[in-house]
Amino acid sequence: MTHYLNYINGEWQQSANNQKYQSINPANTNEIVGEVENSTAVEVDTAASYSHQAFVSWKKLSGAARGHYLYKAADILESRLEDIAETMTKEMGKTLPEAKGETARGVAILRYYAGEGMREEGDVIPSTDADALMLTKRAPLGVVGVITPWNFPVAIPIWKMAPALIYGNTVVFKPALEASATAAKVIECFKEAGLPNGVVNMVNGEGGEIGQRIVDNPQINGITFTGSDKTGKMVGQGALNRGAKYQLEMGGKNPVIVTNDADIDLAVEATISGGLRSTGQKCTATSRVIIDEKIYPTFKEKLLKKVKEITVGNGLLPETWMGPCVSEKQLNTVLEYIEIGEKEGATLIHGGNRLTDNGRDQGFFVEPTIFENVTTDMRIAQEEIFGPVLALMKVKNLEEALTIANDVEFGLSASIFTANIQNMLHFIDDMEAGMVRINAESAGVELQAPFGGMKKSSSHSREQGQAAKEFYTNIKTVFIKG
Ligand code: NAD
Repeated sequence: MTHYLNYINGEWQQSANNQKYQSINPANTNEIVGEVENSTAVEVDTAASYSHQAFVSWKKLSGAARGHYLYKAADILESRLEDIAETMTKEMGKTLPEAKGETARGVAILRYYAGEGMREEGDVIPSTDADALMLTKRAPLGVVGVITPWNFPVAIPIWKMAPALIYGNTVVFKPALEASATAAKVIECFKEAGLPNGVVNMVNGEGGEIGQRIVDNPQINGITFTGSDKTGKMVGQGALNRGAKYQLEMGGKNPVIVTNDADIDLAVEATISGGLRSTGQKCTATSRVIIDEKIYPTFKEKLLKKVKEITVGNGLLPETWMGPCVSEKQLNTVLEYIEIGEKEGATLIHGGNRLTDNGRDQGFFVEPTIFENVTTDMRIAQEEIFGPVLALMKVKNLEEALTIANDVEFGLSASIFTANIQNMLHFIDDMEAGMVRINAESAGVELQAPFGGMKKSSSHSREQGQAAKEFYTNIKTVFIKG
């Protein structure tokens, strides 16, 4: 078992209370993947203080010089892709090919933002004074607190830290405890890239203490959070109270609409991939499938046939298509929702059970689960489950499908499968989601495009691509009188 320390001011450090948290393998609960510090607010304050000092010289570097460090970190991460992906699979359960794909994405994100250091950053605006020059300039926020979930333990921290750094901020990072060994390996790449001390710091520990202190620490000027809407609300409120800039990306209840002219095979593939890959533990995972009644029987038959072929098991095994839930808590949440769905009167047509055969009871495995006769008032149609559970809903036409699709508090991602351009345009205009996808699964992110949700899914700023600049910098309007 490896012991991962906090990373503060360029050094691996123990927390003062000397308490540890053990990260276990959800596919084999006897295996401890790593031990990390279960720190206190003291370590956050120390990290914020060093980060604040480091900011003074980091912000003075040219963008190109900052980019140089990110290119180096990208090369190191790429050279360790196999090891980091394996740690991720062992720690949070996603299959090895998915973990490798995610790590490769982390490399690409670092390179993308490394290049951003050379991009133009403002506008020249005509002044009414003919002797003046007026322009905008971007200024970093200072220290940015980065709070992340466990489900993308490489990609999400990197898609926050890389833009934070390139635009001149320094970072105090708090990963999710469930994925803290993977996070430590990412931080090792930054360390070995030679980043100056204090520019990136990592503190491990419970959200209630460490996360809360990041929100409250007066030396932290910006907070970027990804996680549940319940936690997000507290983070946003805390940041607002003390005037810190904040950005929240939260949950989803993502629909897929299948119209009567859709390519049914394609829609089935995308529903399975979007809904059940990563054990449904993606914020953009499909959870509601809204199907035109004319094609419903064919869609259902094809979906069930494919779902029955899914192999559940340890993500390190090549035959595994779907891994375990990340934790016992998450498994219990999924099982509770399955019970709720049955009590509410939905019809369970596949799965519904914890998998305990073949020794799998050592892991947090659950069957891919499908309900039909789901109505929009049911909790399984409204609340984020974050597990491999699909709710099928039958509709008469696209109008009704859109009404149901929009009848939730979330608005992250949504898909439609249709061959009709009018349907596509109607969906693009009227679907209340930050990401609308046509003939493609609901889960899918390209690093150069804005990412984020509407309604309760987000604080309405966007991550990734050029959009990230809006959060990680402030605009300064400059007026120069000649
Ligand atoms: P979570 O809200 O439980 O935890 C997220 C992070 O917040 C963790 O690091 C946690 O330790 C920390 N935290 C907990 N309490 C805190 C507090 N009081 N103050 C500050 N920080 C605190 O979420 P999770 O279970 O780790 O992740 C799953 C959730 O994340 C799902 O709802 C999912 O939809 C969402 N998610 C959203 C996106 C997106 O981009 N929209 C991406 C991935 C995951």
